[in-house]
Amino acid sequence: MVDRKKVAVIGGGVSGLAAAKAFNEKGHRVIGFERSHDFGGVWELSRSYPDVRTQSPKSLYCYTDHPMPDDYPEWPKGPMVHAYLHSYASKHKLARLFRLNTNITAMHKRIDNKPGWTLTLEAAGKEWTEDFDFVSICTGQFSEKNIITHPGQQDFVERGGQVMHSSEYTDPTVVKDKDVVVLGGSKSATDIAVNAVKNGAKSVRLVYLNNVWRVPYHVGGINFKNLLYMRAQEEQFNGWDRTPVSRALAALFKPLVWANFRGLETLLKFQLGLKKHNMVPTSPIEKEASCSLPIVTPGLFDCLKAGTITPVIGTFEGYTDKGLKLSTGDTVPCDTAILAVGWKLGVPYLSQEYQDKLIESDGQYRVYRLSVNPDLPDMGFVGFNSSFCSVLSAEMIANWLVRYADGQLANQPNATQMNENIDMMLNWKRTERPAAKVYGGLCSAPFHFRHFDELLADIGATKTKRSNPLAEKFAHPNATAYGEFLASAPQYMAG
Ligand SMILES: Cc1cc2nc3c(=O)[nH]c(=O)nc-3n(C[C@H](O)[C@H](O)[C@H](O)COP(=O)(O)OP(=O)(O)OC[C@H]3O[C@@H](n4cnc5c(N)ncnc54)[C@H](O)[C@@H]3O)c2cc1C
Repeated sequence: MVDRKKVAVIGGGVSGLAAAKAFNEKGHRVIGFERSHDFGGVWELSRSYPDVRTQSPKSLYCYTDHPMPDDYPEWPKGPMVHAYLHSYASKHKLARLFRLNTNITAMHKRIDNKPGWTLTLEAAGKEWTEDFDFVSICTGQFSEKNIITHPGQQDFVERGGQVMHSSEYTDPTVVKDKDVVVLGGSKSATDIAVNAVKNGAKSVRLVYLNNVWRVPYHVGGINFKNLLYMRAQEEQFNGWDRTPVSRALAALFKPLVWANFRGLETLLKFQLGLKKHNMVPTSPIEKEASCSLPIVTPGLFDCLKAGTITPVIGTFEGYTDKGLKLSTGDTVPCDTAILAVGWKLGVPYLSQEYQDKLIESDGQYRVYRLSVNPDLPDMGFVGFNSSFCSVLSAEMIANWLVRYADGQLANQPNATQMNENIDMMLNWKRTERPAAKVYGGLCSAPFHFRHFDELLADIGATKTKRSNPLAEKFAHPNATAYGEFLASAPQYMAG
C-alpha cells in the first residue's frame, strides 16, 4: 500500500507540467506553484525574445502522449510552443492543480519532524508557510538571470545607452538605427544578433570568447535529427562506467569513430564557411558535444557573409565616451549592449545547509539519475538537467521520480548505492569527459538513450526498445514509443 502524499510542484514550465501529471496520475494530492502569471517557463510570452524557436525538431520536443500539431513547422516558434504547453495542460486538466503568481521563497525540513518540507510561499504581498510530504523541484536552469556589469556602465546608461539581458530583448524596435553589440556566442546571442539586423540596427557585433561547433538545422541537406540523434551516434562518445569489454571495443573502433567525426567537422566547415569567418573551433567535436553545443540560427551565416554581423573573439572591457572597449584593444560604436550571458544555476530558496549537500565545491551537482540526492530525502528535481529533448526527458524523470518517492521502483536504490553512482559519475565528468561538466554536470546530452535506458530499467518497464532493431539503432528517440515503454511498467495507485 502506497500512502497518498501531499506533493508540491515548484514551477509551471515544461517540467512542472510533467511532474504535476505524473504525481496526480498516481493519486497524490498535487499543488503546483508558479511565480509567473502564466504557464510555460522559458516559453512564457513575456520572457521570449522575438523569433525564438526550438533547437529541437518538434518530434523531439513533445510529451509522449501529445505530439505537436501537424501544421507546426519542424522547429516551432516560441508562441507555438507556449500554445502547445497550454494544450497539454488542458488535455490533462493540470491548470486546476496550480497556483499562479505564487513564489516559493524558502524551503526547510518540517519542524514537526515528519518526512517532508515546509515551503514559504509569497503571493499578492502575503507570505505564509505550508507543509508537504514531498517536493518536486521544477524551476529549471533559466530562472535567475546572470547579471554582469562592466566598468563605465552607469555613465553609459546615463548618456542614453542601453544595457539589457538577452531575456529582456522582447521589443526589437529598440535596436532600429542603433549600433548594437551582443555579448555571448550561444544560440540566444546569435538569434538576437540576426534579429537585430532584420530590425534595422545600424551595426551589429557579436562578441564571444571562443569558437564553438554549431550544428545547422540541416547538415549536408539532411535534418540533423536523422544524423546525430541516434543510438549508433551516441555510442561513439566516451560514456560512463565502461566495462573492460566496452573499452576494448572502443579502442578497436577508434579509427572509424575518429573518421566519422572528422567527416562531420569537414562537412560543417564547408557548409558554413567556418574558415572564411575565422570560426573554426580548436577542439574536436566529439569532445565538445554537450548541452552547450548550439544550433545555427537561420540567417546567421548569411549575415556574416554580407558583413551585417561582425564576429569578434573577445569580451567587453568597459564602456567609454568613445564607445565600447573590447578585450581586443578596439573600441567599437555601441548604443545598445545585449548581454546573452545566460542564467545562474541554482535553487536559491533552499537554505545553505542543504545546498552544501547538493553542490560540490567545483559547482557539480550531487544528484542520482539527475534527480535526487540521498542526503535530501522527500524531494527531487524534474528537468533540472539540460538535454536536446527536454520535454521527453522531463516526462521520463517525472515518471521515475514518483515511483522513487513511493518506493515503487523495480531498482529502488539505497543511499549507499546512490552515493556510489553519484561519485562514479562525478569522477567520469572530471577525468574522462569534461564537456559533461557544463551546467553543473546536469546535462544528459549526447547520452539521451543511455539515460532513458537507466530510467526505464529502474522503473521496471518490460518494453524498453522498439521492435525494429534498425529503427532502435539508427532513428531518433520516439516520444510515442517511450510512452509505450512507460506503460509497460508495473502500475499502482497511492491511497
Ligand atoms: C530560448 C530557449 C530555447 C530552448 N530550446 C530548447 C530546445 O529546442 N530543445 C530543448 O530540449 N530545450 C530547449 N531549451 C531548454 C528549456 O529550458 C527546456 O526545454 C524547458 O523549457 C525547461 O523547462 P522547465 O520547466 O524545466 O524550466 P523553465 O521553463 O525555466 O520553467 C521553470 C518555471 O519555474 C518558475 N519558478 C522559478 N522559480 C520559482 C519559484 N521560486 N517559485 C515559483 N515558481 C518558480 C519559473 O517562473 C518558470 O515558469 C530552450 C531554452 C531556451 C531559454
